[in-house]
Amino acid sequence: MSEVPILQETTRSTGREALRNNITAAMALAGAVRTTLGPRGQDKLLIDDAGRTMVTNDGVTVLESAKVEHPVAKMLINASTTQDRIARDGTTSAVLFSAELLQNAWELVLQGVHPSAIARGYRLAEEACRGHFPLLTIEANEAMQQKAANTSLAGKIHEAMQEHLALLAVEAAKAIVSEGSTGTIADPTRVKILTQTGGSMTDSHLVTGLVLAKKRVVRSMPKNLKAGKVALVDGGLERRNMMSDLTLNVSGPGVLESFRAKEKEMLDAQVELLVELGVTLLACKEGIDDDMHKALSDAGIQAYRRVSRSDLDLLARGTGAVLGYDIKGLSAQDLGVFIKSRNERWNGVMHWIVETEEGGATFIAKGSTNEAVGEVERCFADALGVACQLLEEPKLLPGGGATQIALARFLRRHAETIPGREQLAVEAYADALEVIPRVLAENAGLDPLDTLLQVVAKQSTSSSNDAHCIGLNVVDRGPADMKESGVVEPLRITRQVLAGATEAALSVLRIDDVLWAKQDPTVPDGIGNE
Ligand code: ADP
Ligand code: MG
Repeated sequence: MSEVPILQETTRSTGREALRNNITAAMALAGAVRTTLGPRGQDKLLIDDAGRTMVTNDGVTVLESAKVEHPVAKMLINASTTQDRIARDGTTSAVLFSAELLQNAWELVLQGVHPSAIARGYRLAEEACRGHFPLLTIEANEAMQQKAANTSLAGKIHEAMQEHLALLAVEAAKAIVSEGSTGTIADPTRVKILTQTGGSMTDSHLVTGLVLAKKRVVRSMPKNLKAGKVALVDGGLERRNMMSDLTLNVSGPGVLESFRAKEKEMLDAQVELLVELGVTLLACKEGIDDDMHKALSDAGIQAYRRVSRSDLDLLARGTGAVLGYDIKGLSAQDLGVFIKSRNERWNGVMHWIVETEEGGATFIAKGSTNEAVGEVERCFADALGVACQLLEEPKLLPGGGATQIALARFLRRHAETIPGREQLAVEAYADALEVIPRVLAENAGLDPLDTLLQVVAKQSTSSSNDAHCIGLNVVDRGPADMKESGVVEPLRITRQVLAGATEAALSVLRIDDVLWAKQDPTVPDGIGNE
């Protein structure tokens, strides 16, 4: 049969060949992040097009900055990005696990098991794990929350800083938690992070309220305000920019003056409106005309100009104000309230601090260099993500591979009850889960197989109720009770690793035809044609 015209200039791989190619791509991708897993993981040096460098051991950062063109590799990267969005952690684990699921699927395919039976088995296994989670979870009280925040920073920053940041993250999460109609909400984006280069990392601290590196427009405005109303505007309080092709028909003397006077009148009217509404605090995204400084000061208004949109949004959430398009259109309903608004000079830079009833907190990230500040900022954000999640869902699982080993042991028993070929897939799923403890051991310089066997044996011979908490503590380099060692992680992370990785693996298994338009799939990414 001749080639279908539509497929001209297209390379096609089908059936097993397609699956094998796809799985090779997945394994290659997993290989790129494998050595970063866990507190003993290695770092990667990333260099972008412009030659900027960054050192990281965060899986998703590595993957997102790599120029990957293989569609299957991209699918796995998407899974890891989703993992980051939903659980803010567990990105390396998600990629490793889905690649392992695919590798094990390939072995079953070679034994003659159809990919659709494998897919069904994988789904059954994931559901079974989900049902088994309640037997493994640990309640997250405050001390445990702190430990979980600490675990999320393991290996990313030195130990003293880990504890310091974990403590601040838990405190910050408490400052922004609220009760919504769907339960407790702790949105980490409500915590503002302000970076300051200079000083030491350990000087990083938390401030109640929202802090902006801004000063009031003029010093004659009140420096400190007590409880009042705030107006937030997307525009400014200034004369409109003349359009370049505007013609002003000056027909007589004084026209220009009266034009200017009219403009000033309009601005005065806006200040009067603010006074009428009882506003004492004003923040604008755009400028505030020099002519208006006195009127605002005289009215006792503390005003800020050129406030970024993201800061205005944070202010709106904290004060309950509605961001107006301009001052003219403001009404009493648009105003928000604040408890205190003050100006303070820190290290020679003026800062504006607003406290509101809604709480809110600002984390001041410090460090001696930009890189150090960036590291502190990223680590704090990770720990904050964990702390927030735990306020929303206070459930933890033991880390260090303990949960994966407990789930694998459970799945192997469960598999025996499944009559069809899916049984093999459930067992393959159990084997794939063990990639996490194996790689943790490998990265700590331990023998992966011996270590895994040791932990499995300890779990199965322990008579304690907490047998499932036995995992590999890579700091002590041996099996240990992870709950006691304080290596715990939010349930949401592991649940999402399983769901996301299974979904990604299943979508790869469903593919039996790959059509490459005008590309040679045998040429590795980034080589040739350049
Ligand atoms: P991910 O991107 O998947 O979050 P990480 O590099 O952050 O990858 O490593 C997370 C893994 O490290 C988790 O499985 C966690 O349980 C494990 N881990 C953290 N601290 C320890 C420890 N002290 N001993 C063993 N494992 C640990
Ligand atoms: Mg992590």
